[in-house]
Amino acid sequence: MHYIDGNWIDSDRSFDITNPATGETIGSAAEGGATEASAATEAADRAFDSWAGQTAYSRSETLYTAWRLMTERSDDLAQLMTLEQGKPLKAARNEVKYAADFLLWYAEEAKRVYGETIPAPRPDQRFLVMRQPVGVCAAITPWNYPISMLTRKIGPALAAGCTMVLKPAEQTPLCARAMFEVFHDAGVPAGVVNMVTASDPVPIGTSWLTDPRVRKLTFTGSTEVGKLLAGQAAPTMKRVSMELGGHAPFIVFDDADPVHAAKGASLVKFLNTGQACISPNRIYVQRSIAEPFIATLTERVAKMKAGVGSEAGVSIGPLVDQPSIDKVDRQVQDAVAKGATVETGGRRLTEDGLDRGLFYAPTVLSGVTGEMVIHCEETFGPVAPIIIFDDDDDILAKANDTAYGLAAYIYTRDISRAWRIAEGLRFGIIGINDINPTAAAAPFGGVKESGLGREGGHVGLDEYLDTKLVGWSV
Ligand code: ADP
Repeated sequence: MHYIDGNWIDSDRSFDITNPATGETIGSAAEGGATEASAATEAADRAFDSWAGQTAYSRSETLYTAWRLMTERSDDLAQLMTLEQGKPLKAARNEVKYAADFLLWYAEEAKRVYGETIPAPRPDQRFLVMRQPVGVCAAITPWNYPISMLTRKIGPALAAGCTMVLKPAEQTPLCARAMFEVFHDAGVPAGVVNMVTASDPVPIGTSWLTDPRVRKLTFTGSTEVGKLLAGQAAPTMKRVSMELGGHAPFIVFDDADPVHAAKGASLVKFLNTGQACISPNRIYVQRSIAEPFIATLTERVAKMKAGVGSEAGVSIGPLVDQPSIDKVDRQVQDAVAKGATVETGGRRLTEDGLDRGLFYAPTVLSGVTGEMVIHCEETFGPVAPIIIFDDDDDILAKANDTAYGLAAYIYTRDISRAWRIAEGLRFGIIGINDINPTAAAAPFGGVKESGLGREGGHVGLDEYLDTKLVGWSV
């Protein structure tokens, strides 16, 4: 079902949704195209003036209601996410909590859209700066975080007074539908949020990006598609926010505790089976502590259990599709052919029914060097490649030697080193002895080809606001 102008709309065509852990069909979603996309824009455009004209208190109240309902339904939402996306239930619960945080935080922040007055150059002149919602926003979201990537966009958009049209990823429309049920039941007025589902994203993207009524695109997905969409948004000069790929360095200096750092690496690298844009993709370890670091990491990773996410003890879910598992395996094979050592894993898992899904063994590769594909391409899978380094003179240059710039991690106990490296890393998010530098209140986003703009925090609200200057003669 699509959700347009406050109504659930069916299509005569639908597409099946598969559980990536078992290959089973778990439901279907309506196949939408340009007609539905345009109807959604029409509804969002019609709803805009009255939504933007509500008081901030009233919009805030609606967001609070959505947050309360979402919290009540959090267990069902998490179960559905595990079924549709494959991540273990515990991770799904964490994501639902993180997702709900955006509704709560922006319910609060909705009341703090302040303008300013500025001293004017003439004695009889006054300057006033207003912040106003940008208008209808189009959101295109990915499958890896199928609920939080919605609320991270819808929360600030609604708080600012924007209306929205959204297309979820073709792999995870059921999670999106469950979230739109939340917004419907929370009393979000008709037309304020609209959703069109499809197995082919192109007609919908084209409709929204060529429509002058759509004033902004907010996209989370691959760098490749992000560049394409930013180009399509240019002729009508839409604002764009882009959360794209990453190639995060994880640097462990010789003064760090190698066991503590390895525990951190094992947790953040294998989160969501490595299918996260902030996943460490290059683990640089200084030579004198490499041995205990690799031993601890390998021991922990070897114990990780892959399987169906609803089963107890499972911490590794499936990969999303065949090209993804092929890419992971190709990177591992390439590294091995060029001299890397597989400490654990290094193969597809097919035993105990795992052949029904797309499971890759959690893998640690040591002896990785600059010539290997895994050193320069985003992996998006459960492989931890370890590169040993000697001096820290050129570690910054190595870490920055990528077109991406999303997240980077450092482990050190030397405060000067931490400061210097954090300042020199050309990335949007830095974790210092910290593997989870994300929260609804904190700005998330990258530099270079990892994206434009920030989501979360008060700067996340700026993305949905235009600045208007009023000059006044008195
Ligand atoms: P991923 O590699 O995470 O699957 P994609 O960038 O392919 O990332 O997909 C992210 C989102 O972008 C999904 O909702 C997908 O349907 C959408 N998408 C992909 N290609 C296009 C396109 N040409 N036009 C509009 N949306 C697209």
